Amino acid sequence: MAYHQSHRHTSAPSTPPARSPVELKIDRLSKTYANGVHALNNVSLTIAPGMFGLLGPNGAGKSTLMRILATLQEADAGSAHLGDIDVLRDKEAVRRTLGYLPQEFGLYPRATAEELLDHFAVLKGVVDGSERRDTVRSLLEQTNLYEARSRRLGTFSGGMRQRFGIAVALIGNPRLIIVDEPTAGLDPAERVRFLNLLSELGENAVVILSTHIVEDVSDLCSRMAIIRSGQILLEGVPQDAVRDLRGMVWRREVPRQELDAFAEAHPVISTTLVAGRTVVNVHGDTLPDASFEPVEPDLKDVYFTVMRGIGISPRAVPVESAESPQPVEFVDRAHSAESTESAAPAEPMRVERMDSADSAHRVEPAGPVASADPIPPAPPVAEDEHGARVPFRAPEGP
Ligand code: ADP
Repeated sequence: MAYHQSHRHTSAPSTPPARSPVELKIDRLSKTYANGVHALNNVSLTIAPGMFGLLGPNGAGKSTLMRILATLQEADAGSAHLGDIDVLRDKEAVRRTLGYLPQEFGLYPRATAEELLDHFAVLKGVVDGSERRDTVRSLLEQTNLYEARSRRLGTFSGGMRQRFGIAVALIGNPRLIIVDEPTAGLDPAERVRFLNLLSELGENAVVILSTHIVEDVSDLCSRMAIIRSGQILLEGVPQDAVRDLRGMVWRREVPRQELDAFAEAHPVISTTLVAGRTVVNVHGDTLPDASFEPVEPDLKDVYFTVMRGIGISPRAVPVESAESPQPVEFVDRAHSAESTESAAPAEPMRVERMDSADSAHRVEPAGPVASADPIPPAPPVAEDEHGARVPFRAPEGP
């Protein structure tokens, strides 16, 4: 059975038919809006089945890329292939095997979850009545909405709506699943439930999770790319990037009134408020002075370092405490020969501890989103709980 016909024979998503996995290959994709904003600038990525995190601040170009891959928008140049489907040309074939959860989606508030899911299943080509009932039931169970199946969607919480969106996206056992900023606006419990649901997806499908929340990627994704101003700055295994930053991050407390002078003198990558005290992480090959202490970096440090315009050099030999002896896998696009980005350092990032119970690390631009080219030094403002460590999965083979 050709994979693009699989929707005609939808089985329960918990027991998908055996299929050979396909890769998504994106090659030099570019997009400039009519207002002159270069939203995507020569984006190339090869994404294998599994959970792939596309991490970047607001305005980075994530949604533009997601919409192009979801056939909702045209690119100006470049190509994308899902297996042997030409994504930009053969839109119908893509749509047959696509599950897309957009940032915002409209629901019919008066329809029940079961009714609307059934309706979408018809649209997706699941025409056989009993097969569709099985599919709908299975999806409601999988997304933990079965008990709420007869409730009107207008009464759903944000987390329930997102889970419903995933149920819709999963109809037809798609090979490409795109989830755009799914956890924004969810409370902590809903976020955890939602991430758990996502983690169950994607053994055979390419799942792209677009987010500005570092923890979404560190909690879920075995591979990732960091995007800013339409350019991929770094790509690879999160754990490898963290490993390669080891021994290069130093921390000390700095009185608030001294922050500006301190930032003049040091390559500050983030500023964190911990119980009212300002703790600053700086980047450097060696201990700046005895007032600093070394920091075991996490993915936030990687993200802020890259966003600061500092390259993370792949290490041929991992440092002493590295768990993995594998060679470096990530590609620091911003500092490779093909990069078109200016190496001019950006402003330091500011990390504010969140007072709410939400532990997610949110990265927001400080000011209005600027034109993408050349890359502006817009400092993202982040909110963070203090010092949470990132659990990493074992790196994959090359
Ligand atoms: P992200 O999803 O990372 O926040 P977007 O893809 O939404 O980024 O936006 C990338 C850039 O393109 C931003 O500068 C944004 O303002 C701009 N942009 C997005 N959509 C449009 C549009 N329809 N017209 C003009 N500019 C747009």
